[in-house]
Amino acid sequence: MSAGAPEPTDDPCGLIAGSPDVLVVGLGPAGARAAAIAAADGWRVVGIERRSTFGEPVQCAELVCSALTIEGLDWDRVTAQGVARMVTRVEDHVPESTAGFAGRMISRRLFDQQLAARAVACGAHLVRGVSVTRLDADGSARLSTGATLRPRVIVGADGPRSQVGAAIGRVNRELVVARQVAVRLEMAYDATDIFLRAAYRGGYGWLFPKDREANLGIGVDYAARSELKALLAGLESELRAVGRIGAAARPSLTGGLIPVGGRLVAFGRLRFVPVALAGDAAGLTNPVTGAGIEAAVRSGELAGRAASAWLGGQQMALEDFDEELGDLYDGAYARAQRHRRETLRCASVSNLRRGWISSPEYWT
Ligand SMILES: Cc1cc2nc3c(=O)[nH]c(=O)nc-3n(C[C@H](O)[C@H](O)[C@H](O)COP(=O)(O)OP(=O)(O)OC[C@H]3O[C@@H](n4cnc5c(N)ncnc54)[C@H](O)[C@@H]3O)c2cc1C
Repeated sequence: MSAGAPEPTDDPCGLIAGSPDVLVVGLGPAGARAAAIAAADGWRVVGIERRSTFGEPVQCAELVCSALTIEGLDWDRVTAQGVARMVTRVEDHVPESTAGFAGRMISRRLFDQQLAARAVACGAHLVRGVSVTRLDADGSARLSTGATLRPRVIVGADGPRSQVGAAIGRVNRELVVARQVAVRLEMAYDATDIFLRAAYRGGYGWLFPKDREANLGIGVDYAARSELKALLAGLESELRAVGRIGAAARPSLTGGLIPVGGRLVAFGRLRFVPVALAGDAAGLTNPVTGAGIEAAVRSGELAGRAASAWLGGQQMALEDFDEELGDLYDGAYARAQRHRRETLRCASVSNLRRGWISSPEYWT
């Protein structure tokens, strides 16, 4: 590694140079799961993460559905509280409470850190504070340290603006932009609140409780991003005025991009090197809810398995992986996209209501 490399890295033996079997770019949930699965099969896996601490900063509202299972994860440590129901507020109409949306509010920081630790325990070699700066047409990966890796397989798990995806011609073109703050909750709460308004063009607002705090945020279509700051400030003062929330819990402004254009074809090739995409890099986020953690975990696991199968001689492993993702997600995402387009076209109260997952009409 060159002098002046970003710190800290976990590369005491200089293993980062050379030709791993699998290179995983990005170590959020998708990348960490891909690295764990491929390494557990005995392949030499190198994972590269540009952040210097796994899971930080948090760019997430931190809600997962209670059905999500991950081998070896200590849910008690990462769960902040359970939620039992969803409360939907369309414009200024009476809120509707819906049971059957049980979930967990997690610490995304601890969640990502546990997944990374699990990948290391499976034998993956993870490096923090280093970026993949370029992918060459022959599949070589240039790192911010100056090193070059020549992997046999690449897994791109580098988020909504995936560089790996761009290298094989897969780009998330429809995006929602989100902005979020942590606020103090005036009393304990067991529901996720959803705010559906015409002003939140192509998106929605949320108040998700985390014990005595809550994540308050809004996402809007990329084209409306200049309005986001004022929209969030407006929602925050409304909720404060009615006594739902207190002051900002601490300096906590965050946000990010959410792909909402549906799934991308999740495999490709850089000369002889097969490439699989997972998580946001593959567009695996629900176009209406923006939920992507479950899909990142599942697609990461499938990508790790596909990489392992290809290395083991199954030449169609990546094509099969893409087909499996289609079976899992295409139906649900197509339905969500239809609703999202309809509310973008006309954000009437009835379209806002039927375009949200708690409405029975959403599913018909
Ligand atoms: C504000 C907000 C709120 C959200 N709330 C929820 C929610 O409540 N529930 C839910 O299910 N989903 C939510 N999502 C979506 C969810 O966070 C994502 O779908 C999920 O994080 C995708 O995981 P991933 O591993 O694919 O990508 P990421 O978690 O984005 O991880 C990608 C990683 O790649 C790294 N990286 C990028 N480029 C490079 C590079 N060149 N070299 C090295 N490393 C690189 C990044 O640093 C990052 O750590 C939210 C998203 C946003 C923006």
